[in-house]
Amino acid sequence: MAGPGNSIVEVPLLEVLPRDCAPVVGEIRRLAGELDTHAAGRVAWRWFPERSHPAGHGPMLLDASIALFSTDVDWLELTLDLACRPDLTVNAAVEVACWCRPDHNTHYVRDQTWQVTNGADLVDAFAAGIAMLQPALDHGPFHPLPWRAEAGLPQPTDWAASR
Ligand SMILES: [Zn+2]
Repeated sequence: MAGPGNSIVEVPLLEVLPRDCAPVVGEIRRLAGELDTHAAGRVAWRWFPERSHPAGHGPMLLDASIALFSTDVDWLELTLDLACRPDLTVNAAVEVACWCRPDHNTHYVRDQTWQVTNGADLVDAFAAGIAMLQPALDHGPFHPLPWRAEAGLPQPTDWAASR
């Protein structure tokens, strides 16, 4: 793993992306740059260039996360990633901390996946993933409570009440 970096410019995309995606590297950089420059939160890019070796070292190639809210015990995060699951896919998600018993750690209150078979698909999937995250980046909610309420998930106050 390499990173985290705060800009897609730091990511060696030619080493990270499948070889046949080389022609769309510029387009991916431009799209990803929309996340870099957003005021809602600072993006953290992580990448896994060792994946380009035939042996493979795990499914993740590229991962962006934007923390919209974070304390020691609670959080709200937007993520966009490219991974082999086992087919190449882009996934975009809105994630919140879990307050269930037992603890699941994370809940995906929004989650969508796009299959990628070539460079054009990759551009489309990146654009769709960013478009999915855009309303949350622009308008929030910027706190995990309303996201959990909408999804019918337990809140920290439910823990206090059950003690
Ligand atoms: Zn849970």
